[in-house]
Amino acid sequence: MPLIIYRSNPPISLPLSTLRDLVQFNQPPSTWETPPAPPSRRCLNAVCAGRANCVAFPSDPLYQASWVKPYNLGVPVKPVAVFRPNNASDVSAAVICASTNGVTVQAKSGGHSYANFGLAGDGGLMIDLQYLQDFSMDTSSWQATFGAGHRLGDLDKKLHANGNRAMAHGTCPGVGIGGHATIGGIGPSSRMWGTALDHVLEVEVVTADGKIQPLAS
Ligand SMILES: Cc1cc2nc3c(=O)[nH]c(=O)nc-3n(C[C@H](O)[C@H](O)[C@H](O)COP(=O)(O)OP(=O)(O)OC[C@H]3O[C@@H](n4cnc5c(N)ncnc54)[C@H](O)[C@@H]3O)c2cc1C
Repeated sequence: MPLIIYRSNPPISLPLSTLRDLVQFNQPPSTWETPPAPPSRRCLNAVCAGRANCVAFPSDPLYQASWVKPYNLGVPVKPVAVFRPNNASDVSAAVICASTNGVTVQAKSGGHSYANFGLAGDGGLMIDLQYLQDFSMDTSSWQATFGAGHRLGDLDKKLHANGNRAMAHGTCPGVGIGGHATIGGIGPSSRMWGTALDHVLEVEVVTADGKIQPLAS
């Protein structure tokens, strides 16, 4: 119908009220103004269920400065979203969101990769583990269990506060245990105690199908 009117000659002969109706009719419906959220975005929002500071997307204010936080400012990275889980079940749910929608996933622990390798690259989902700060110490075996969001400095303090314990690792307190232990992690005590990885007895992993499983060394 509007197309017919555009072809009419002269269009000005239309009554104003009709013209107004037509102009309104030709406005895009409100749903066109905001494109529908991609399925991965809807899925991650559902996992967060309204929880504050749980997930962010590129259109959110301060996305790069407060969420992506590239370590190397010379390597721009644009992940499709940054998700901050509270526990392994959250990680599992986010991995399922990503894998069912063809989105790649990468974990970030302390973010101290010189090449920004923990930030999921362009179009990936970053799973920022900073809220995984649980810590417990078994004082009979002196085995500690802790979350992958710990940075080396905070981990040192907790190991010391729970029985004057320590482990081998590198010198920078801001480096995350997740990336540090997975590459080995050497420091001043490594000649005596080996690498950070040498201390790891078991990890809990989330596989691409969302399964949470223990993996022993
Ligand atoms: C200032 C500085 C000082 C350093 N000093 C030392 C040192 O003294 N000794 C030494 O050995 N190294 C040192 N490093 C190197 C550092 O150990 C590595 O860059 C390490 O990978 C950083 O870990 P991260 O968790 O902070 O980084 P991130 O950027 O978070 O992660 C780095 C990589 O590990 C992966 N990763 C992180 N967490 C997990 C997880 N939970 N599960 C699976 N994959 C994960 C990420 O996906 C990414 O690929 C230093 C680095 C910097 C920047």
